[in-house]
Amino acid sequence: MKVLSFIRSLLVSIAGCGLLSACAPGPTELVVYSARNEEHIQPIFDRYSAQTGQTIRLITDDAGPLIERLAAEGRNSAADLLITVDAGVLWHAAQLGLLQPVDSPVLKANVPENLRDPGNRWFGLSRRARTIVYSTERVQPAELESYESLTDAKWKKRLCLRTSKSVYNQSLVAMLIAQHGEAQTEKIVRGWVANLATPVFANDILLMQAIAAGQCDVGIVNTYYFGRLQRDQPRIPLKLFWADQQTAGTHVNITGAGVTAHAPRAEAARKFLEWLSQPDAQAMVAAIDLEYPVSSAAPADPQVAAWGEFKPSPLNVASAGELQPAAVRLMDRAGYL
Ligand code: FE
Repeated sequence: MKVLSFIRSLLVSIAGCGLLSACAPGPTELVVYSARNEEHIQPIFDRYSAQTGQTIRLITDDAGPLIERLAAEGRNSAADLLITVDAGVLWHAAQLGLLQPVDSPVLKANVPENLRDPGNRWFGLSRRARTIVYSTERVQPAELESYESLTDAKWKKRLCLRTSKSVYNQSLVAMLIAQHGEAQTEKIVRGWVANLATPVFANDILLMQAIAAGQCDVGIVNTYYFGRLQRDQPRIPLKLFWADQQTAGTHVNITGAGVTAHAPRAEAARKFLEWLSQPDAQAMVAAIDLEYPVSSAAPADPQVAAWGEFKPSPLNVASAGELQPAAVRLMDRAGYL
């Protein structure tokens, strides 16, 4: 029976049914809107289908279009679950009324309180840190300390940053506002801008390649991008440094999910979310893109574990959403492009 349903889910993925709205879901087929790439999610779906017989239809797009689509579809939406990266995006979807609260003791036990919506409309599935990366050829880790310390004059023309248009930086700055207040955060961002060695980068990988090439010495990146680069170029002379260990802890964000407001199969969606939060699934969810599990009972991938332990910020990641508009205005004022 299990084999049959596994083959069925396989055929569904091969047929590309998930990409065609003309192909209607079966009455029990779970429909997932995902801003995560198919390669980062399909193997997990396949595992769940094989274990439970639950078939899943995956529809992938960027977060913006998926949220617009959910809003436009309203009560007629076939979607049961929204999966996306960044707590700010999940917060926004919840604000628009697109997600429903899920009261689940399993999710409460497995997902730490600061990595889920206080209103239970979304839950972290994996965790990433956004922290300092440095050249092992030109920087000693003892010279580093915090996001704020990158404003120090010694980093003049030595700092590289990704564009402020990235939701990752918007969330980072929002969390800095939650921690330091707006006035102090503006000083920090102005200090970064004053220390830039190059124009801002379109993504974290280009930024790290610039450090490796000697264009700058330090930067701020998401841990899994460092992991990808390290996997492709094991000898790249870069290392991660855990920011703010003496103070608030390193900024973390999540990949997360919520049951949609009008989910036709809300119960099946809750069960799938609960399964994703179990240690077994957690290890797989985190390892597939070199992230950290949210469940402390699940091990990190060996490559990720090798970066060492760190103290994460205990602030609720919901602040990334609440304070994002203020963060965007602040970065604009500070001349951070
Ligand atoms: Fe990313």
